Amino acid sequence: MVIGKNRETKLIVDLAAITHNIQHERQILAESVEMFAVVKANGYGHGILTVAKTALNAGATGLCVAILDEALALREAGIAVPILVLGITSPAVAEIAAKAKISLTVGSVEWLKEYEHQSNATEPLNVHLGMDTGMGRIGFRDVEEVKTAEQILKSDIFNFEGVFTHFATADQQDAEYFDQQFEAWYQLTGALTDLPKYVHVANSATSLWHLPVTGNMIRLGIAMYGLNPSGLAIKDLPYELEPAAELVTKLDFVKQIQAGNSVSYGAAYTAKNDEWIGTVPVGYADGYPRCMTGFYVLIDGQRCEIIGRICMDQMMIRLPKQYSIGTKVTLIGFQGDQQIGATEIAEYAGTINYEIMTSIAERVERIYK
Ligand SMILES: *Cc1c(COP(=O)(O)O)cnc(C)c1O
Repeated sequence: MVIGKNRETKLIVDLAAITHNIQHERQILAESVEMFAVVKANGYGHGILTVAKTALNAGATGLCVAILDEALALREAGIAVPILVLGITSPAVAEIAAKAKISLTVGSVEWLKEYEHQSNATEPLNVHLGMDTGMGRIGFRDVEEVKTAEQILKSDIFNFEGVFTHFATADQQDAEYFDQQFEAWYQLTGALTDLPKYVHVANSATSLWHLPVTGNMIRLGIAMYGLNPSGLAIKDLPYELEPAAELVTKLDFVKQIQAGNSVSYGAAYTAKNDEWIGTVPVGYADGYPRCMTGFYVLIDGQRCEIIGRICMDQMMIRLPKQYSIGTKVTLIGFQGDQQIGATEIAEYAGTINYEIMTSIAERVERIYK
């Protein structure tokens, strides 16, 4: 992976904002409730290791990732706290997790039997049973299966450490489906004779808007990065979320074009007047969506329109006047009283702030402040 260290395009991550968000979340939680910081997908694009360390310093007591390799990277960096892999790991490689004391999500009896059959592990495997209460993704849907799983987990090769579910609509105003899922959660966990150490149901949206049902651990993802899990749908928040990331660069080419001149692929933009055009070294290969033509970036505290097609590594913008090369350009972040959030970009692109942040390419250097 090549990182653009000698290039002005940077993702600036404000670690104080992450700390702020975690501490404010901590304040609304009962003291007995633990917080696992979700750092999957390179810490939602912000950088897995730095975010993990920051979160742990700020009050998180564990970490969640999507895949085993992310958990191993954290262990290799010396992080010793509990780490839960939220996705399905193949039983064939689960012993690696047992050795590294990484907790795995299990969603079927079949998985447990397969691991039991082929495991020679000397360390017990930490297991969190995932309950599919309506997300329809992974996990147990049947009470009898849950009972069978609990029996199998009594074996010494397992440590039954957690049980959890994931809500599909915690970020929506209407709580009907959420309540149905919660009912299913009671049914499924009611099948267990003993509850394990961790009983958890809450992602960011659940902890922000359904606080009473958090269990004894939450899995805090997008809110830790200062973004609203609902996008623009629910503006009411128990505390102010501080966005941690800014995507910035500098103008690297400036010229005046004449009326009738065209810009970028397809010559799809033609100037109506004589115009100042700036070139910005950010393109869709940096993770900035190609469909953002007509949106804007911030220069000198003003919104400047993106014109013509966005290229792989560059884009062009219309300037209100001549600006010099090296003038700061903000694609995500603040300038003066103007702000562009990942959520706004997402709305324009027809997606969600999660996808905008996790799409920022690895070649964009992360700078921490
Ligand atoms: C990604 C994920 C989370 C974190 O979700 P946010 O909405 O970012 O808080 C929590 N739980 C599970 C199972 C996940 O996959």
